[in-house]
Amino acid sequence: MKIGIIGTGYVGLPTGVGLAELGNEVVCIDQIESKINDLNNGKLTIFEDGLEELFIRNRQNGRLNFTLSMEKGIHDADVVLIAVGTPPDPETKKADMKYIYAAAQELAPFLNGYTVIAIKSTVPVGTGDQVEEIIRQKNPEADFDVISLPEFLREGFAIHDFFNPDRIVVGTNSARAQDVMAKLYAPFAPKTKMLFVKRRSSETIKYASNAFLAMKIHYINEMADFCEKAGADIYEVAQGLGADDRIGPKFLRTGPGYGGSCFPKDTNAMAYMARAFGVELSLVEATIRGNDKRKQLMAENVWAEAQKISNPQIAILGAAFKGGTDDCRESPALDIIKHLLEHPVQIRLYDPKALNNARKILGDAVYYAQDAYDAVQKADILLVLTEWEEFKSLDLAQIKQQMKGRLIFDMRGIFNPQEATQLGFDMRRLGIKSTAL
Ligand code: NAD
Repeated sequence: MKIGIIGTGYVGLPTGVGLAELGNEVVCIDQIESKINDLNNGKLTIFEDGLEELFIRNRQNGRLNFTLSMEKGIHDADVVLIAVGTPPDPETKKADMKYIYAAAQELAPFLNGYTVIAIKSTVPVGTGDQVEEIIRQKNPEADFDVISLPEFLREGFAIHDFFNPDRIVVGTNSARAQDVMAKLYAPFAPKTKMLFVKRRSSETIKYASNAFLAMKIHYINEMADFCEKAGADIYEVAQGLGADDRIGPKFLRTGPGYGGSCFPKDTNAMAYMARAFGVELSLVEATIRGNDKRKQLMAENVWAEAQKISNPQIAILGAAFKGGTDDCRESPALDIIKHLLEHPVQIRLYDPKALNNARKILGDAVYYAQDAYDAVQKADILLVLTEWEEFKSLDLAQIKQQMKGRLIFDMRGIFNPQEATQLGFDMRRLGIKSTAL
């Protein structure tokens, strides 16, 4: 099939590469010239595990192309995916639809033959109706259906998730569009469940899923706070909780709060949307407030110790919002760093992939370390903020030698607490009283 993808970001690019690998002819469109130039020159614009190999192969076999031209990308396409950003409005936090509506305006003149326009971006309920209206106004002759096709991939696992989706949700009442989508995703049948639902249900499923996951994270974080006071161990509690099939073990790791380009924005957009419908989503609202407060609280806990030291140097491992990605959008790590920088501290920051993106946000306010050992050099305090796999194999004895102080705030539960304590570190973990180790 011929596929045009509007928006070549964290969703559009892995999706385009994946669809090309399945044998489709894919044209990815973006409006940022440097992005398209890089991709046309064989340079990836994001980091995702496994992306490079498929990107190279499908560019070489000619199934994957990149263009700035909407016309080239849309002409003759069977399916057009809209994967542009839906960022939060800075004041109200509702989802800003300007990129979606602009994409609908721009694509409309170039439709020819029957085309399925699939909205992959996360959009408020009713957006499908509006996109349909915009296209119909702009090109009354066009033969098309607008469907909702929410994306559930996890950053850092985008390629894995593309090829192993839990479910594919298609929101449309059109039998013709359903046939096209069933054909496009036929390689995943019968293993993957394909759900055909109403367009508004599909739009809601995406927000309801992210709000639920955010609530689950916030829940375990509150339980961690409880365990810390009550003398229980959140790691043991999470194990016991997760062993219940009805609850499940995922998203039960405590941390400094959720972040990223989706959960903060989608919980806010969901709450805003509900308020507009006159519905109060009290659990979602409490999750948003609690998660916002949490990052400041984490920074205050670190400052409470740092202020006892003159000219405190804090080594920080992790800038990305989670391991496996270079994405720093709404990263709790960066929020905590910003709070810490309100105090007279020096920060030595290391992240395996996200330092370039961190630099765009933090500028020269911190020292960017070559590696983890460089970060901990003469540091008084070590703070772990992102759960990168490679941090798990760091040599704690070497870290001990290089650090000046002995305090570790391991907010991701990366290090072996017994080993660290034996080496003489003062280990602080979330959800465990430090003396309980
Ligand atoms: P992104 O910012 O990484 O990429 C969006 C791209 O769209 C940018 O490169 C931008 O230049 C381009 N663009 C915007 N308007 C355009 C236009 N008119 N023509 C051509 N290109 C245009 O965003 P993202 O992270 O890929 O997210 C896209 C959507 O998918 C959002 O709604 C997001 O909520 C949703 N989503 C994201 C994830 C994720 O993990 N990032 C997961 C699921 C869903």
